[in-house]
Amino acid sequence: MYDLIVIGGGPAGLMAAGQAAAYLGGQGRVLLLEKMEKPARKLRITGKGRCNVTNDRPREEFLAKVRQGADFFRPAFEAFDNRTAIRWFESELGVPLAHERGGRIFPVSGRAWDVAEALAAWAVSSGAEIRCHAAVGELTIADNQIQGVMLESGERLEARAVVLATGGVSYPTTGSTGDGHEMADAAGHCIEPLRPALVPLEVAVPGGLKGLMLKNVELSLWVDGAVAERRFGEMEFTAEGIAGGAIVLQVSRTAVDALIDGRRVELSVDLKPALSAEKLRNRIGREIEALGGDTPVKILLQKLLPTQLRSVIARAAGLSLSAPAGELTERERERLATILKGWRFAVRDYRPFTEAIVTAGGVDLAEVDPLTLASRRVRGLYFAGELLDIDADTGGYNIQIALSTGYRAGRSAVARINRK
Ligand SMILES: Cc1cc2nc3c(=O)[nH]c(=O)nc-3n(C[C@H](O)[C@H](O)[C@H](O)COP(=O)(O)OP(=O)(O)OC[C@H]3O[C@@H](n4cnc5c(N)ncnc54)[C@H](O)[C@@H]3O)c2cc1C
Repeated sequence: MYDLIVIGGGPAGLMAAGQAAAYLGGQGRVLLLEKMEKPARKLRITGKGRCNVTNDRPREEFLAKVRQGADFFRPAFEAFDNRTAIRWFESELGVPLAHERGGRIFPVSGRAWDVAEALAAWAVSSGAEIRCHAAVGELTIADNQIQGVMLESGERLEARAVVLATGGVSYPTTGSTGDGHEMADAAGHCIEPLRPALVPLEVAVPGGLKGLMLKNVELSLWVDGAVAERRFGEMEFTAEGIAGGAIVLQVSRTAVDALIDGRRVELSVDLKPALSAEKLRNRIGREIEALGGDTPVKILLQKLLPTQLRSVIARAAGLSLSAPAGELTERERERLATILKGWRFAVRDYRPFTEAIVTAGGVDLAEVDPLTLASRRVRGLYFAGELLDIDADTGGYNIQIALSTGYRAGRSAVARINRK
């Protein structure tokens, strides 16, 4: 009989197992079951292989970045917040951290792999056992009390408590395939519909933009003709007709829900956010004067835009690239300035879970105690991580959610055992 079985070896599960084992002073029996060949496969590819472990923003600013479930998340965050996590990584895990732009925190080594290895080693040194190639198929429950788990191999394991930490359904090749949602559902929990969040969008722009990176632009998300969100930063065209990059991912959560609701979704990009419309019109005038009136529009646009965008913007503004810039009428200059301040295009769709950084939706928070992360339906069952209906922006927030909920779930699962 195990004191605790944790299902899933991502950051949430490793944290839960390590904390539970540490809480029991290394005297308990804590087992983590991971279906892949090693734990934390997803963590190893986070932050483009660098792992943005958390964000050092003040508490309220941090919570404001949690798009769904912030109130629920607050007690877990207060028990193990970003500041605590930073100290813990450095002192307990031996992973020195570096602070970067936007409060983002990365390992100094620049290797996500180091974070994953350190987390797994810490869980084991705290007294947890990790078993890989161990896919859990079912929770065993009798009289609304958890009894243990059954592996897909048919093996049964008994436990006083179980933490379900199987992650979301994005990047499923890392092992996060939604098994936990099925187990929670079978245990009587409602699952809020799963949608990709932080996901690239399919957009109606002409070809030839693949690889185009736009820095310091302002992106607006329009839903049914009204601005729903605005973000400043970087975006890119990752493939033909696909827009990604930080600010697109950030607005994607709202875009996905609007698309699912059948609403009209568009993006507009302010390519010159530092200039007012009037200043931009003056700038266009000055460029034309400096270049000479016979210079073709193509060269004028070269002064104002990345090469890949010239013909797209000219077409959108109804200008011919070969026409002399000096012959542009007031109205044409006005049109050009308007497009540069708001190049607008439709969003056709969102990309699938295989390309989503996180999963929105998951185990309904109304059926989970935010103080302990215990199921309100099954005694001895706890939840942690992305499996829950909590998700946040990019910037290190999602890993912190996994760590804080893992901390709370692991500790409360064994605190309950201790009281028995
Ligand atoms: C490409 C990419 C980059 C990202 N970058 C960042 C970043 O820089 N910063 C950030 O904060 N967030 C980032 N994220 C999000 C972050 O990785 C997740 O939010 C986080 O990993 C969730 O942790 P988790 O422990 O809940 O789930 P997961 O990390 O998904 O772990 C769940 C584990 O459960 C295991 N499992 C599933 N089913 C079973 C089963 N039946 N039996 C046994 N084990 C099972 C899986 O194999 C997996 O190892 C990124 C995500 C992706 C895809």
